[in-house]
Amino acid sequence: MEFLPIFMNLRGRQGLIVGGGEVAARKAVLLEQAGASLRVVSPALISPLQEMQREGRIDYRQGEFEEGDLDGVALVIAATDNAAVNRQVSELANARQLPVNVVDNPQLCSFIVPSIIDRSPVQIAVSTGGSSPVLARLLRARLEAAIPAAYGRLATLVESFRDRVKARFDNVNARRKFWEDVLQGRIAEMVFSGHQKDAEQALEESLAQADTGPAGEVYLIGGGPGDPDLLTFRALRLMQQADVIVHDRLISKEVLELTRRDAHRIYVGKERDNHSVPQDQINQLLVDLAKEGKRVCRLKGGDPFVFGRGGEEIETLTANGVNFQVVPGITAALGSSAYAGIPLTHRDFSQSVVFVTGHLKDGSMNLNWKGLAQPQQTIVFYMGLKGLPVICEKLMEHGLPADLPIALVQQATTPRQRVFTGTLGDMPERIASEEIKPPTLIIVGNVVKLHDKLNWFRSEAMIARGE
Ligand code: SAH
Repeated sequence: MEFLPIFMNLRGRQGLIVGGGEVAARKAVLLEQAGASLRVVSPALISPLQEMQREGRIDYRQGEFEEGDLDGVALVIAATDNAAVNRQVSELANARQLPVNVVDNPQLCSFIVPSIIDRSPVQIAVSTGGSSPVLARLLRARLEAAIPAAYGRLATLVESFRDRVKARFDNVNARRKFWEDVLQGRIAEMVFSGHQKDAEQALEESLAQADTGPAGEVYLIGGGPGDPDLLTFRALRLMQQADVIVHDRLISKEVLELTRRDAHRIYVGKERDNHSVPQDQINQLLVDLAKEGKRVCRLKGGDPFVFGRGGEEIETLTANGVNFQVVPGITAALGSSAYAGIPLTHRDFSQSVVFVTGHLKDGSMNLNWKGLAQPQQTIVFYMGLKGLPVICEKLMEHGLPADLPIALVQQATTPRQRVFTGTLGDMPERIASEEIKPPTLIIVGNVVKLHDKLNWFRSEAMIARGE
């Protein structure tokens, strides 16, 4: 993070603007909106600034910038067209530890001014750290469009009820849930459609009827294979509501970052053969947290109901009377298939697809090999890396040809994705010298032939290798 975004209270404090041109005039208006009193220093002023001076809105000193102009000010903006003056302002202000901004010169700035979406009292500031003001403006335009102008009125309504809501709920979680219902439901819509009075009335009623007890709940959420863009809207919304996040190893850092910043995160591990927290303890943890009134996001890789033991977790919840929701995610087979350009079915190659676990137990796999080794069928193995030699051997033993294509997809959909292809006959040997990182998925069948043609995704690793 190059700059820390903060919101500064300038009410009644003095801001200095060095310069009298158009940019200076824009900054003057901005500082004035923030309630600052303004000093402007410049040999000349363009007419909007002259007007501000006539109206007594700025304190103007005609002349070149001098060090004494910095006395008593809280913030400085240099907006002259003279690089040497701008640099001098920056150096002198820095020597006094005064926040200083030099227009269009991030190197000389101790603060930068973001693009602002103003829904006072709601303010959204967008910055690209000075790297692209145009991009910041484009983002701002998108946000302007997405955030109704009435958000300001909504915030004002919330403010006026804040103390009473606080007094009514002594449980923080119940209070937060109350506000979320207000801000996302009927009452917010009333404000947006201009029915302020009705909204106030409805808020009164909700407050009177609200259930003030703890309202714990568990959201069993599929976090997908890694790329955060593959989350569902519902997953994202609930991830941002939850008070506690219980996650395991398969959840990518990028996905985890989309959970609420102040949520408590609990890592429950889960590695092959080595569950850092045993499943029954995870089940119990979810029950206990929900009973404390927490909204718990149980975040699992891929889809919670595909080799995810999600079923067991919610069985325990039902047995304990805890409310829950299940949000599907993109399972690894679908993420790998899409991002490796390997369609799982195809009219010419495969009419069915099966998902199986290739988890090795005591050196073998208890699978219906005969059923798997069918012509025109794609087989996807989860957790199959260790068992790869056994998989290849068993499939050939049950009649699949040694030249049948097979693919191994490492860390699908992430910047670290790699795809290895070979045949049942040579794959174990081919990858023996490779350093393959989990998680990986195995796809067996003639559809793998399509990879060379349909492989569209360029991961960062591939770009770095010049592929
Ligand atoms: N519930 C998960 C699967 C959990 S089992 C889902 O629906 O995807 C764990 C196995 O999933 C791993 O051993 C690996 O085979 C597969 N897997 C999960 N994420 C993956 C990814 N990003 N790339 C490749 N395989 C992945």
